[in-house]
Amino acid sequence: MSDKKEKFTAIKGMNDILPADAPLWELFENTVESVLKSYGYQKIVTPIVEETGLFARAIGAVTDIVEKEMYSFEDSMNGDQLTLRPEGTAGAVRAVVEHNLAYDGPKRLWYKGPMFRHERPQRGRYRQFFQFGAEAIGFAGPDIDAELIMLCRRVWDDLGLDNIRLELNSIGNAEERQRHRADLIAYFEANASVLDAEAQRRLHANPLRILDTKNPAMQDMVNKAPKLLDYLGGESLAHFEGLKKILDANNVQYTVNPRLVRGLDYYNRTVFEWVTDELGAQGTVCAGGRYDPLIETFGGKPTPGIGFAMGMERLIELMKSQGEPAAPSQCDVYMVHQGEEAQMKAFILAERIRDAGLDVVLHCATPQGAGSFKSQMKKADGSGAAFAVIIGEDEVKNEVVAVKSLRGAEGSAQQTSVAFDEAVDHIVDQVIGGGECGPDCDEHHHHH
Ligand code: ATP
Ligand code: MG
Repeated sequence: MSDKKEKFTAIKGMNDILPADAPLWELFENTVESVLKSYGYQKIVTPIVEETGLFARAIGAVTDIVEKEMYSFEDSMNGDQLTLRPEGTAGAVRAVVEHNLAYDGPKRLWYKGPMFRHERPQRGRYRQFFQFGAEAIGFAGPDIDAELIMLCRRVWDDLGLDNIRLELNSIGNAEERQRHRADLIAYFEANASVLDAEAQRRLHANPLRILDTKNPAMQDMVNKAPKLLDYLGGESLAHFEGLKKILDANNVQYTVNPRLVRGLDYYNRTVFEWVTDELGAQGTVCAGGRYDPLIETFGGKPTPGIGFAMGMERLIELMKSQGEPAAPSQCDVYMVHQGEEAQMKAFILAERIRDAGLDVVLHCATPQGAGSFKSQMKKADGSGAAFAVIIGEDEVKNEVVAVKSLRGAEGSAQQTSVAFDEAVDHIVDQVIGGGECGPDCDEHHHHH
């Protein structure tokens, strides 16, 4: 056809979460939220758009995110420089300082939501992706570091994910990193022939981040580089030892990875990542670390902080690779009706059944019309409902409804006629009775 309309597609690297996947996301979100609650973490929701300067300050100018991944734009109404948040810590810490949340003591916070980074889309790496994050503000010791790590372990346990391992490191404080940095630059300069273009660019701006390289040609050289751990002073070492002691006492397995770093000045001491081998190159499902100097750089009183962020898409994919849970049914009851009077009755009854706490799908007309009785029953079967409630002309005349079990064995499906005014009680009894002994139970039409 000549006047064919343009079809739109989602922005590259940004995904729709379709109803088929929604139950899995819901299971994931409910699990994480109930674990966070069980550790006393409180929800905080911050805007998706913030001033661009906030992220430059919070994340650091010489980082992948700020150098090349931010969705930044000018507000055409007033010229403000704005950015779609690439991560959640900056907004959370901004809110803590702005609302003086830590004035009456430390806070345990969590958030979830979409983040935006202009990266090359690939498996496990998108331009809009979802994170769950936690931030513990105002706690100084290694106990809170251990708590955050163990909270993550509980999430993996509750989800039945047993192939995620913990990598741990300490990056000390700014002064310790300064001494390490001098030796590191000297080491890299002595190995200049092995450095790729990105590493050469970062050599003086952010040499620590070179340790993070994924370039296979550089692995050998980087593995032999001076280790930050060897530069830690007494306090940093004591913090790290304190953390390991709690983890050991709680049977948390980990490997110390000296190459695990954060290339920013206000990240300090503990850094950790949860990694899986099941997802290919994008195997980090959660990353966290301490950022004691950050709140001060936001104009707040010196207040320690530590947090983590989980990549939800990667964890959902991991859940999928371990077998998907059975799709839950759309409703308890599907209402089938024929004729205008029956439709009116069906509306009234559907509302009453919902009042009683059950989920009801009421058959509604499509462009092809209301549909035959047979096609409506097909929809009822497909909905996964335990019962169809049927109202036809005869039922209207006799002031009854027909209740048909959809989950009995083939051929044994029972249909009963119930007075209209008794229908709600009867249906609630049936659904609850059926739920108690399961669909294969002979007794599932008993009454209480
Ligand atoms: P990478 O080195 O893989 O780019 P990162 O250091 O940028 O990771 P963080 O900023 O620490 O990642 O984000 C925490 C978690 O969020 C990551 O471990 C990952 O699970 C997830 N994540 C980060 N970027 C993306 C993305 N573009 N798409 C999907 N998930 C992401
Ligand atoms: Mg990244």
